[in-house]
Amino acid sequence: MSSGAKPVHARQTLFPVVDGCLTVGGVKLDRLAQRVGSTPFYAYDRVVLSARVAQLRAALPDALRLHYSMKANPMPALVQHMANLVDGIDVASGGELRVALDTGMAPEHISLAGPGKSEAEMAQAVAAGAYVHAESEREVRVLARLGERLGITPQLMLRINPEFELKSSGMRMGGGAKQFGIDAEDAPRVMALAAGLGLDVQGFHIFSGSQSLKAEAIVEAQAQTFALAKRLAIEAARPLRHLNIGGGFGIPYFPGEAALDLAPIGEHLAPALEAFGREQPGASVAIELGRYLVGEAGVYVARVVDRKVSRGQVFLVTDGGLHHHLAASGNFGQVIRKNYPVAIGNRMDAGELEPVSVVGPLCTPLDLLAERMELAHAEPGDLVVVFQSGAYGRSASPGGFLSHPDVVEVLV
Ligand SMILES: *Cc1c(COP(=O)(O)O)cnc(C)c1O
Repeated sequence: MSSGAKPVHARQTLFPVVDGCLTVGGVKLDRLAQRVGSTPFYAYDRVVLSARVAQLRAALPDALRLHYSMKANPMPALVQHMANLVDGIDVASGGELRVALDTGMAPEHISLAGPGKSEAEMAQAVAAGAYVHAESEREVRVLARLGERLGITPQLMLRINPEFELKSSGMRMGGGAKQFGIDAEDAPRVMALAAGLGLDVQGFHIFSGSQSLKAEAIVEAQAQTFALAKRLAIEAARPLRHLNIGGGFGIPYFPGEAALDLAPIGEHLAPALEAFGREQPGASVAIELGRYLVGEAGVYVARVVDRKVSRGQVFLVTDGGLHHHLAASGNFGQVIRKNYPVAIGNRMDAGELEPVSVVGPLCTPLDLLAERMELAHAEPGDLVVVFQSGAYGRSASPGGFLSHPDVVEVLV
């Protein structure tokens, strides 16, 4: 950031403005609110979702398989839309597994990962023919037992906790001591255990972090991931058939952040994939992305209920808040609260802006959607839009807190 320049949000360009009104899926927001029937709501744009996948495929090598990590947004209609665009779906619970199977995605392209998988969840996956990414010795033993009981050979991969992590990522989920995966140095022992139990370890899942906007950091983590996979493959009983190299692609949420540059990632991945293919002929390589695929394609829309002035400061009180959108309130793992990009969706052409805070109806100062942002003048009835809301929205928020109505989701 140059000295003195105030950091600003990246410009929102995915949702065209018509007659001063934002459109989602080609529908003006006021009309969309009528069509939904109530506020607040989340709206996801199919065209934006499809365009994002196309853009990603153009930048990455053809041989790389693209998986949707559905915990980012498990809305069934959206998962169905994504299922038609991607090569696989990564799920993190038995409930997500059911939604993924409902899309018609072939079970061999669905994988279940996550710590503490219950026996019932693993049995669901084995019965379906989906992959289970075992994250502990216990899970390997349970899978062997389930395989015998059900008379089905479990489709097994090992989730590895690498000794490195994706630098500058939003959430650290690899490296050091973790509840995720099997420590890389323990993997040979767990592979031997699996072989002894008659299980076939088909590959590895190496996830090193999330929400990175730095291409160099992602390139470095991917190089370390291939190197680790090659080392582990030497210890494996059979040649690798699958490798999941994680994801970690971020989207810009806050002032001063810019979109991830895909070009260097694609340029490094192409030779890395070729080299890996020579060493492990026939092995498939997948990348798993959640927020990068869906985060920018969604908005959260709440209606202004009240406009108050308190000691000179304007507060727009809306019918939506942290109970629907914890992340935008700054309480989903952020260290310092920063504003998501926010606008008054039916007053996009307003010339003059004013500093306002946008709050929700909950009795807690944490219920904040925008703190002293420059927004168009708004009155009760106007529609506040929170951008970058397609991932970790409704399903990642405490919907029961204060017993307000649930939020509606639509795919437009
Ligand atoms: C949550 C998660 C993802 C998706 O992360 P995003 O930041 O949404 O892309 C991918 N892989 C694993 C193992 C995860 O737990």
